Amino acid sequence: MKCFPYTPRKTQLKIADTVEKALSSRQHVLIDSPTGSGKTVAVLVPCVEYAVRTGKKILYLTKTNTQQQQVYKELKKIREKIEFTAMGIQGRANLCVLFKDFENANSEELAKLCRDRKKSTMKHTGTVKECNEIYLIDEDNSKILELSEGCPYFANLLSLNEEFEDYFLHNVCDITDVLAFADKHHICPYEFIKAHLRYADIIVAPYAYFFVKPIRKALLTWWNTTIENLVVILDEAHNLQDYCRELESASLSLYTVHAAMHEVEECNNPVLGNFISARDFLISIEHMVEECVKEFVKDDEDSFVPPDYLETYLLSNLKTDSTHLNAVIMDLLQAGEIYSEKKRMEGKLPRSYMRAVSNFLVAWFSIGGTEYTKIVSGGENPEIVAFCLDATIAALPLCSVHAGIHMSGTLSPLDEYRDSLGLDKNRTVFLELPSPFAPENLQIVYETTVTTRYEEIYAFPEIFDLIEHEIVRICNSIQRNIIVFFPSFKILQIFVNRGIENRIDKDVYVEAQGMNSIEMGKIIENFRDCSRPKVMLAVIGGRLSEGIDFPDKQLELIVIVGIPYPKPSARQKALQFYYDMKFRKGWEYAVQAPAARKMRQAIGRLIRNENDRGMTIILDKRAKQFSEYLEHLNQTDDVIADIKRFFGD
Ligand code: SF4
Repeated sequence: MKCFPYTPRKTQLKIADTVEKALSSRQHVLIDSPTGSGKTVAVLVPCVEYAVRTGKKILYLTKTNTQQQQVYKELKKIREKIEFTAMGIQGRANLCVLFKDFENANSEELAKLCRDRKKSTMKHTGTVKECNEIYLIDEDNSKILELSEGCPYFANLLSLNEEFEDYFLHNVCDITDVLAFADKHHICPYEFIKAHLRYADIIVAPYAYFFVKPIRKALLTWWNTTIENLVVILDEAHNLQDYCRELESASLSLYTVHAAMHEVEECNNPVLGNFISARDFLISIEHMVEECVKEFVKDDEDSFVPPDYLETYLLSNLKTDSTHLNAVIMDLLQAGEIYSEKKRMEGKLPRSYMRAVSNFLVAWFSIGGTEYTKIVSGGENPEIVAFCLDATIAALPLCSVHAGIHMSGTLSPLDEYRDSLGLDKNRTVFLELPSPFAPENLQIVYETTVTTRYEEIYAFPEIFDLIEHEIVRICNSIQRNIIVFFPSFKILQIFVNRGIENRIDKDVYVEAQGMNSIEMGKIIENFRDCSRPKVMLAVIGGRLSEGIDFPDKQLELIVIVGIPYPKPSARQKALQFYYDMKFRKGWEYAVQAPAARKMRQAIGRLIRNENDRGMTIILDKRAKQFSEYLEHLNQTDDVIADIKRFFGD
């Protein structure tokens, strides 16, 4: 472990040692280690050394593009000790310069447009100077600024002098570096990265580059490697199960059906399967979704749909048989393809909602196993969903990699993580590390006088008075920044409607449902300003409880109202039942594990470095069931006295 750029702490050496063993014995290692423990560098050092020694490739996967920055920072430090090449990649949607205006375009749509532009560009191969009659070029004749049919950024890339590339082939080349370089030379950053991936020992990429099959296949081709040659590092992996389930689910909303109806009008309402117009077919689907909502959805919650409901409805409504229905769906698919092709030829986004409807129907009819459940939800944009219960389907490629490092500050319970993703017990090792910070800097207590347990709230609605009383008492007891996390927007709104803000003696900010990132950014900025103590009312599991740091005095006290068990929705019940059937652990895996992770994520906002101090109060007597997951959890009999004692106020 010669390449540590800093003197490693004991916990970092433990992580590095475990990872090193996992790499040589082709294992998966699951690491639960708190934020601030330095796990990123401790994982990277043995991985880089192993890659350089053995020729294995390292794929570092992050959930969001912003998480990549810390990885580049550590890689650059490590590179001062050992030679290797690292590159970052993001999707075309982030990097394409030419189609920046297509904000909602997905990667498939952009790939089609890009392919056309590149083909046109290739027709005019040659240097910039040779082509100056066709292109608009800049004053020093070095770069193409406009290109009527092709892509000027691709054309410039084709004539890029090789000496420019040297820097990127012998460095840690992060996305910001590439963007600056691409901007300066007027080249396409996406194609530039793609062309140089084969030289990389390490690639930093979003999850989709591994879990979405066509994207993974493309990456492996560009990288000139195989899945068996990969060491995969999964950062912030605690929500990977949800990500995998979503990836394999399919949904159809009324919005999509209505958008398809508009398309039908634009292409003269074609006849499908020789017997029904596209408009009439889509009207049947619209009625089917509306009927489904009317029949099954209560109180805006989602609900189960009988597996053959959709097919039975359409067959009886259209008075036809399965063979004809299939022909209708295939014709709708073809109409969608023709429509999107026409758009593409016009240089517009090659999107088709007719194609989206037919693709959904094909998926819905082909799904039959216990791994899926069929659901309808109401609200402003009702939808039917074939929801995937089994994360192992999308996670299957993990079984083929050379080794896997899965890490997060809230990965535990690790057995749930391993089983949900289908990792081989004999190939998986666990590493759970305590917080590296002084234990006296964090205190977690729970009150036993209140609960948000549904049955008790239902029987004793006066519990809301008690909870409100406790929140107000706690918030008014100290002059420090406080966040109160509620289990859902619905419950948060109950307290806002009761006028809780007026009883708190500080400026109060409220996280509103559907708040855009600019509004959210503004309230966070105001809250962080420590000139006057403030209170934020927010929702656990939302944007404020995950991924946003509040160091020092920006946040010193957290109140968690109730236990954040998942909402007992239809998909949640199906998941619990599925895990009961598969592991006999429905409650533990589908209910308790996500609740523990949500609480740990929220509490993690308090302590980000060795100087931070903070206290968490859980307002629910059921909290004691989580003592296994919450270090040093204690019951409090006098919460105000405990607060005063902790802060010395
Ligand atoms: S070559 Fe690059 S800039 Fe040009 S269309 Fe393709 S992705 Fe966009």
